[in-house]
Amino acid sequence: MITNPLFPVGSPGFATHPIDRAAHLRDDVEKLMALEERADARAYVVHRDQLLIKTESTPTAALSLKEARGFGANPGTVFLGLRDGRPLFGMGIPAQAVEALMGRPDVRVNDLRGAVTQGLLPVEELSAIAMAKSLVSWHQRHGFCANCGQKSAMSSGGWRRDCPACKTQHFPRTDPVVIMLVTDGERCLLGRQAQFPPGMWSCLAGFVEIAETIEDAVRREVAEEAGVACTDVAYYRAQPWPYPSSLMIGCTARATTTDIVVDKTELEDARWFSRDEAAAMLRREHPDGLLGPHPVAIAYHLVAQWLNGA
Ligand SMILES: [Zn+2]
Repeated sequence: MITNPLFPVGSPGFATHPIDRAAHLRDDVEKLMALEERADARAYVVHRDQLLIKTESTPTAALSLKEARGFGANPGTVFLGLRDGRPLFGMGIPAQAVEALMGRPDVRVNDLRGAVTQGLLPVEELSAIAMAKSLVSWHQRHGFCANCGQKSAMSSGGWRRDCPACKTQHFPRTDPVVIMLVTDGERCLLGRQAQFPPGMWSCLAGFVEIAETIEDAVRREVAEEAGVACTDVAYYRAQPWPYPSSLMIGCTARATTTDIVVDKTELEDARWFSRDEAAAMLRREHPDGLLGPHPVAIAYHLVAQWLNGA
């Protein structure tokens, strides 16, 4: 049986402990300002792919707004919602302020991916952190109206940008990605991208294209990347993936052909793995040092639930 204490099978990172988004408060400017002033309000401070983490006895990324501003965070906030009634915000921080924090003992600026895979952050915070990361990054990358080119302004608690010139409203985007475990009886198909760490293999994945169904995207990606035809596409579960703003749609599928032709522009390699081999890779006990995906990622859970007989 495959299991993991931090991310039990079926509970990948960023996908559990969702907060109350309290969307009815987003357009109430006075109420949002009052929530910011509350002593129990907390903010996640994001700089590109990095996050500010307070290095107390229990490290946390949930800073008081006073602390966040003291560290140099931008004054503007995005409203994430409420956790047990406590208001949560996201904030950006300029590069100069991040540099000024280097070497301080009370705070570290940590790559989010590293902080999550190393277990530096409580699993309960990851859903809200994913919101902060994706939403703050979206504002940083979308300062100008895509319709007319004028500078746009944040509105609706950070969930919209408005163009003062042409009046177009812009909403944050989520990009759907299919990620799938293809099986052939007692074997599963895994691939290696060139940028993976040495020895690591994972599920095939790719963006859903415009006007495409999830099922068609799964069949197309597996055929394109590995030359394998598949059928019986079934939904498993989804995972927000805040790099920068994807929704990983986990699926399973059954192969109807087994010869592999690797698309070398997408993958370094792809091959079939037996159940025993895949289990050893997830447990990090493979005799050749091969590794499966990290338990934070839905790919781990797709393989694990298959190994567990689901
Ligand atoms: Zn415009």
